[in-house]
Amino acid sequence: MAPSAAPQRIVIENCAIATVDANDTEYASGYLVVADNKIESIGAGAAPKGLDNVVRRIDGTGHLVTPGLVNTHHHFYQWITRGLATDHNLFNWLVALYPTWARIDERMGRVAAQGSLAMMARGGVTTAMDHHYVYPRNSGDLSGAIIGAASEMGVRFTLARGSMDRSEKDGGLPPDFAVETLDGALSATAETVDRFHDASFDSMVQVAVAPCSPFSVSTELMKQGAELARAKGVRLHTHGSETVEEEQFCKELFGMGPTDYFESTGWLGNDVWMAHCVHMNDSDIAAFARTGTGVAHCPSSNARLAAGIARVPDMLKAGVPVGLGVDGTASNESGELHTELRNALLINRLNAQHREAALNARQALRLGTYGGAQVLGRADQIGSLEAGKLADFVLWKLDTLAHASIADPVTALVFGAAAPVTASFVNGRQIVENNRLTTVDEDAIAVATREEAQRLARIAAQA
Ligand SMILES: [Zn+2]
Repeated sequence: MAPSAAPQRIVIENCAIATVDANDTEYASGYLVVADNKIESIGAGAAPKGLDNVVRRIDGTGHLVTPGLVNTHHHFYQWITRGLATDHNLFNWLVALYPTWARIDERMGRVAAQGSLAMMARGGVTTAMDHHYVYPRNSGDLSGAIIGAASEMGVRFTLARGSMDRSEKDGGLPPDFAVETLDGALSATAETVDRFHDASFDSMVQVAVAPCSPFSVSTELMKQGAELARAKGVRLHTHGSETVEEEQFCKELFGMGPTDYFESTGWLGNDVWMAHCVHMNDSDIAAFARTGTGVAHCPSSNARLAAGIARVPDMLKAGVPVGLGVDGTASNESGELHTELRNALLINRLNAQHREAALNARQALRLGTYGGAQVLGRADQIGSLEAGKLADFVLWKLDTLAHASIADPVTALVFGAAAPVTASFVNGRQIVENNRLTTVDEDAIAVATREEAQRLARIAAQA
């Protein structure tokens, strides 16, 4: 649309609204006016009278409107290796799955991305990310395929362009042919940033520099990766402090724990976010707070791999930015983020230090929205419903059997069953209607994911 054209407006009325702004402003019955791709106004009661160019009015009776959910950690390719190595800890699980993962190709990468994105989007995710770090030799244009899938679906997206250069021959876990060289990883990452990263306010695609983890990457790749990200002005992402085994590995190899290692390689800062951060002592949390380093909390995956319980209440108290992550679906088969609101709340209450005071429903919703926007570096643009921000929001249906008897809508959303999504909008464009994606054919995606999962299993079995 040309900038001079009159803005087209969508009006949503008669709904409860949780804005997740700095004051946690909520309206028991309110309105939201969208003009093109931005929120024009929001408030209590009926929408302002006399608006022109209203192309659509939505009666939100029985619904809660929240900011769209923001996913901050995932590995899309794992969509076609779900349900395997189901009774393993992290290192055993990685050893079991790397030989299969190492066989992915561009078509598998595209289809797995479609499956992962579709599952999240139909459950209220409006901003997704993929930490992709498996780039086997001759596997095609995996980054382009993943970004293409997100663009086609209309989801706002960050590709964390990962890499690994520590394979079996160097004491790492992945097979030799599945890793890149130091120079190859750095130049391919730089090229991906140049090709796809859009820094604009309403950007739909961003790229971060994301070596996989301390135990699959050389110290040089960590250091030079951080330098590359800062030279390009993009964010940095990796896995950190996920398990006790990882901590031991870092101490044996580097003579220090993961957080000190990150500090020594340039990996603490307000442009960095780290997945998991389960095994953090008080000084680790203080270092994250002091530097503004963010955390992607992945409660289901941490439970699935028996990694432990991250100290989210302590992180929040210290001022650490925290978002939520699905993590790869080989360690969280559900692939949904809305259920992680509930799991974050429940699992943190199992920490004996915090118990029932660990997190409340509003804090859980904030982790999944504004907290996610913070760690992706996009809190000025998304993550809360405020005039001037981008129109990324969800209408959750709370008047059916599952939720109708719960008076408080935020409590219903977080404590109750996964709520149906009547509509989800990204950048002012509707991508979900009545739990179905409007931009792609999810049944066709389901068929393709089964075919690609079977093809990958066949190739891996023959290897
Ligand atoms: Zn992960």
